[in-house]
Amino acid sequence: MPRFRQILDSMAAYKAGKAVVAPDGRSYKLSSNESPYDPLPSVVEAIAEAAREINRYPDPGAVELTEAIAERFGVPFDHIALGAGSVTVAQQLFEAVGEPGAEVVYAWRSFEAYPLLADLAGVTSVTVPLAGEDHDLDAMAAAINDRTRMVFLCNPNNPTSTAIRRDGLESFLARVPEDVLVVLDEAYHEYVRDDDVPDGLTVYRDRPNVCVLRTFSKAYGLAGLRVGYLIAPEPVATAVRKTIIPFAVNHLAQVAAIASLKAEDELLDRVERVVKERTRVREALIAQGWTVPPTEANFVWLRLGERTLDFAAACAVEGVAVRPFQPEGVRVSIGSPEANDAFLAAAQAFR
Ligand code: PMP
Repeated sequence: MPRFRQILDSMAAYKAGKAVVAPDGRSYKLSSNESPYDPLPSVVEAIAEAAREINRYPDPGAVELTEAIAERFGVPFDHIALGAGSVTVAQQLFEAVGEPGAEVVYAWRSFEAYPLLADLAGVTSVTVPLAGEDHDLDAMAAAINDRTRMVFLCNPNNPTSTAIRRDGLESFLARVPEDVLVVLDEAYHEYVRDDDVPDGLTVYRDRPNVCVLRTFSKAYGLAGLRVGYLIAPEPVATAVRKTIIPFAVNHLAQVAAIASLKAEDELLDRVERVVKERTRVREALIAQGWTVPPTEANFVWLRLGERTLDFAAACAVEGVAVRPFQPEGVRVSIGSPEANDAFLAAAQAFR
């Protein structure tokens, strides 16, 4: 029998959101925070054109895409590291800091992949319970010690949807030693509307140890192609680039991401429509009597405790797939108006 690393025995598999189908055939996938819109024709055309070249390896340095990101965000080329989805860039970050004894601090509950990536990289997870639905930044600062190499802040937080504000972040960063890397995971940044929530790119600029993780999977609608990126001070980006598997970001993904940046106005218009639906869904839930934390992301969070799985099952009967995090609550993506209505009807019936 081949022998494997012991940590694999205790690692839970990542549970991806699944679709469900109602007995009458209706199916609404609100379990993975994807864009509810079909891909833009201009992006599909760019992919179709690029498909003619897939006998060749992609550009390993993804130069054209990196240049497009640099130009779009006004950051230097060598401050950018790309990966096959931001979860892979997160993995690269864990690999880059991971050595025996290293600790990584993050809130819990937060993005499900963090504990997996920590285990895989052989670093110790130090999890700090949320205060209500928010990051407990005081407790997180107190959890930092000589072994801490990295802190992940998921802003807005998946799955609780709340966001860290500027003042809280500034005073937290003032307490973090410069040799500890702070990662602002901004997978849902484009959905933020609260002016007090900082844009990580304004925060990273003055600091040697702060970086920003972003993705093309959510607002840009490319979840199926896998492209994410880090914007970081040059030494951080350089370290992370060294950990990439050669050719990780494939040719179609590179081309689609470039086409998406060109079509950004249309995509951000769609984000605006999702934000409007988010307001409608949250207000309707509150009118039904639910407690719904403020959301700065493309999902809402219902803390259901022991009723979590029952609620998810009741939604499934209506063809609505939501994401249960037993025994805490349910995360529900904002979808098309029709999908949101189906979810609201299921939530009303459950009460
Ligand atoms: N960070 C957060 C907070 C997420 O919720 C997700 C996706 N669920 C990711 C990163 C990873 O997204 P992707 O790999 O598709 O870029």
